Amino acid sequence: MPVPCSAKCGKNATLKRPKTGDALCKECFFWAFEMEVHNTIVNAKLFQRGNKVAIAASGGKDSTVLAYVLKLLNERYDYGLDLFLLSVDEGITGYRDDSLQTVKQNKIDYEMPLKILSYEELYGWTMDAIVAQVGRKNNCTFCGVFRRQALDRGAALLGVDCVVTGHNADDIAETVLMNVLRGDIARLQRCTSIITAGADSIMRCKPLKYTYEKEIVMYAYFKRLVYFSTECIFAPNAYRGYARMFLKDLEKIRPSSIMDIIHSGERLSVRDGIKMPERRNCTRCGFVSSQEICKACVLLEGLNRGLPRLGIGKSNKAKLLLAATTEDRGKKKTVDF
Ligand code: SF4
Repeated sequence: MPVPCSAKCGKNATLKRPKTGDALCKECFFWAFEMEVHNTIVNAKLFQRGNKVAIAASGGKDSTVLAYVLKLLNERYDYGLDLFLLSVDEGITGYRDDSLQTVKQNKIDYEMPLKILSYEELYGWTMDAIVAQVGRKNNCTFCGVFRRQALDRGAALLGVDCVVTGHNADDIAETVLMNVLRGDIARLQRCTSIITAGADSIMRCKPLKYTYEKEIVMYAYFKRLVYFSTECIFAPNAYRGYARMFLKDLEKIRPSSIMDIIHSGERLSVRDGIKMPERRNCTRCGFVSSQEICKACVLLEGLNRGLPRLGIGKSNKAKLLLAATTEDRGKKKTVDF
């Protein structure tokens, strides 16, 4: 028995929205999905007219949908944005080389300039080579730290005002859970922020912050968007995997769990007087860091010295070694980007 679209457009529903439970036809789902992203952008004042915006593009569903929807909203509501695609090639054979083909297709389909930066050109190491050194236990630590900095470097090269990432509501709820479980107050405080930026770093924002992953998949499917869906051959990041499974179980019992966790994270505040890490600039590469020498430089130094565990965890040994190296070299920059 056909169910009428609950937006009262007169058509029959073809899907049930995971976020609200509404029975909608395809067109009303597209409209609701796009309006929510638009409202997120407007309410959080993410952009200003004339901004140059880089979309961090991996070829996966989130960044592909983000690129498609931003282009559409930019035209529909005349945001006046100049949009670019920015990709990072981690050097993972059989994964990133294939997904970059999708990004190159997105470049053509969405008519956006594309910049690709590789770990090899930035750091002299591919993830394949890093995994050969460190094994598969801490590989995502290297990859995540290097990617964050690579995006900043790419954004600086493109001269953009802002980098948008495809983090969705599920990603953010998982991160809140992970930070609660780890007791990481500093990250817990900032992981729900829709905009993150230091005084001297390029703004980062997450227009899909309130968008459910299931709806992103539905949107991409019904719009027939081309995206790459294979998981990284070096995944999974075990800890996030457990948080994800826990969240999926919660969602089955209570679909609003994802939004509830995000809202809980947003309302958490840290008591006055609690010491939080300061943001400063790395004395080696100049990029934003909470330490004198940033994590990327510590990890890179470890790789180059044949001590790949140097930057893993909290190690005073790493601090001492790097301080000595910096002094020895007369504070000369040792990381050549
Ligand atoms: Fe990098 Fe780990 Fe993600 Fe693979 S799963 S792309 S190694 S962070």
